[in-house]
Amino acid sequence: MSRYYQEDCAPHNAREFANTGSALRRATRDNPRNLPCPTCGAPDRLTYADKMRGYQCDECANAAEWGAS
Ligand SMILES: [Zn+2]
Repeated sequence: MSRYYQEDCAPHNAREFANTGSALRRATRDNPRNLPCPTCGAPDRLTYADKMRGYQCDECANAAEWGAS
């Protein structure tokens, strides 16, 4: 998914990410990580911002990247 690479390669956005190597947004009080992953269904994996961007959890994102490369 090219969208992940574009987000990952934007240095000015790096501090918004949950941790290095993750495309997910850091959870905040106004943006809690309380939504399930749409792919594997694991609970509390995504924030609202993540969901609006069509993200999945790190495990699924990594699996997608491995599968694409
Ligand atoms: Zn998942």
